[in-house]
Amino acid sequence: MNREKESIRTLEPYVTNPTVCSVKLDANEGDKDLYLDLLKKLGNSDLKLNYYPDDSYTELKKEINNYVGYEPKNITVGNGSSELLDLCVKTFLDKDEMILSLDPTFSMYSIYAQVFSAKYVGAKTEDDFKLNVDSIIEDIQKNSPKLIILCNPNNPTGSVLTKEEVRKIVKSTDALIALDEAYMEFGDESLIDEVMNYDNLLIVKTLSKAFSLAGIRMGYIVANEDIINSIEKVRAPYNLNSLSTYIATEALRQKDRMYDYVKSIKEEREKMYKTLIDLGVKAYKSSANFIFFKSDIEDLQKKLIQKDVLIRKFSSKLEGFYRVSIGTKEQNQKFLEALKEVI
Ligand code: PMP
Repeated sequence: MNREKESIRTLEPYVTNPTVCSVKLDANEGDKDLYLDLLKKLGNSDLKLNYYPDDSYTELKKEINNYVGYEPKNITVGNGSSELLDLCVKTFLDKDEMILSLDPTFSMYSIYAQVFSAKYVGAKTEDDFKLNVDSIIEDIQKNSPKLIILCNPNNPTGSVLTKEEVRKIVKSTDALIALDEAYMEFGDESLIDEVMNYDNLLIVKTLSKAFSLAGIRMGYIVANEDIINSIEKVRAPYNLNSLSTYIATEALRQKDRMYDYVKSIKEEREKMYKTLIDLGVKAYKSSANFIFFKSDIEDLQKKLIQKDVLIRKFSSKLEGFYRVSIGTKEQNQKFLEALKEVI
């Protein structure tokens, strides 16, 4: 007997790749050593694990304030930005209301929509995955969405909308815009300094990418008080655990490490892009910590796995496309050597 609710019967779960390779470049993760010492610090801390966390996340929000410049009343934290994107859909969408996003983009947005019986439409990008702001605005006007999720820089393509382009979209509509800036530390077009200028804009951020802390599952939203208060109604208490809260707070206190890391990733990204182009690979310019590319080599992902390198492969509409994360210098070299051998 199928007890599933109607809306999820056709839903395909998000699949993560369980393959283990020593060069892991499939999920846009960071450097394993960047904040490794915080584990030791955690062991020596006087955390009280018998108590629930401080549900106001006071210390953590103080450090987020130091990083992005906004008061605790303008911040909500979550178990990865994944939980927060889900919360946005839960908070702002009723059945049959519409979410508009990009196509292609981060595939979880459409899954959150389907779970809550919301409609979902992806605004078309151009042939070369370039984002055309006027055609996005046209799609917004045609579909009248309640919520627009913009991934900037976009995953998986790495393309980025400029600040001016995002401003144009935000001003073109009354719909709520959730701007997912998960990768924006690797780009230069953040709208975080202007988020309070608009009553229909929230920005979703994560420590999973530039801070290299995907394992602690910590994200946050910055927005005006009305938006934050609505999300807070729906957020479960103590959603971020004490261990993650501790590590996130300490990492934010030492953000210079992150800035140095981002600088090195940007340099590596440009080197990797140039090498791919020199190899004749159709690679796309990226403002994130990964590069999207096309290859006609049959079973490319499998062939690279045999050489102990894991990258992300796409299917259906994106058959023949791949995404490789920018790793350490050594990891990138191993990937490029393996690719050269396969070619
Ligand atoms: N947004 C985008 C664009 C992503 O690519 C990801 C993860 N790959 C997330 C959000 C979720 O990240 P997390 O839950 O680790 O914060």
